[in-house]
Amino acid sequence: MKFKAVIFDMDGTLTVPMLEFGLIRREAGLPPEGDIISILGSLSEEKRRFAWKVIEQYENVALDKMMLQEGVLDALEHFRKRKIRLGLLTRNSPKSVKAFIDKLGFEFDSVITRDYPHLKPRPEPVLHMLEAWSLQPEDALVVGDYIHDIECGRAAGAKTCFFANPGRTSYAEFADYSVSSFDELLKIIKQ
Ligand SMILES: [Mg+2]
Repeated sequence: MKFKAVIFDMDGTLTVPMLEFGLIRREAGLPPEGDIISILGSLSEEKRRFAWKVIEQYENVALDKMMLQEGVLDALEHFRKRKIRLGLLTRNSPKSVKAFIDKLGFEFDSVITRDYPHLKPRPEPVLHMLEAWSLQPEDALVVGDYIHDIECGRAAGAKTCFFANPGRTSYAEFADYSVSSFDELLKIIKQ
């Protein structure tokens, strides 16, 4: 496929997964299933504040231990040489994203964090990036390690690629492609 844009999830895709959502949910008093952001919206002020405090504590720990996936910078630089637009789309905080970009030393063409009014699995953030780049959904590949990433890409009409991490739940069956390294992703883009 000749992709003109690749839009990446951050945690567990560009970085090694550190956030244990099952544990975070338990400690934050949230049910094990369902969309965290929507659940938070339905809670009382007090419960919501507590849950956010727990989530942010875990995000800060993950921030301290942040590790890039192997080969990520080389892959991004390769895509840029091919004039592929590169997006970063995450439900993490602007603070975590800034730390990540500083560590990586690479500027994405567009970055959307959880400050954006619509979050994955909604398609709006992907459509927003594509519109800014004057590209069509079928020009884009959305890459992520969670079902929300795949649902978001599909809802936008883009192609999707599941990024598999060792020992984590696979959502490969819902995606157009599945990779477990940036070397494999490069092969898809070069096809
Ligand atoms: Mg992720």
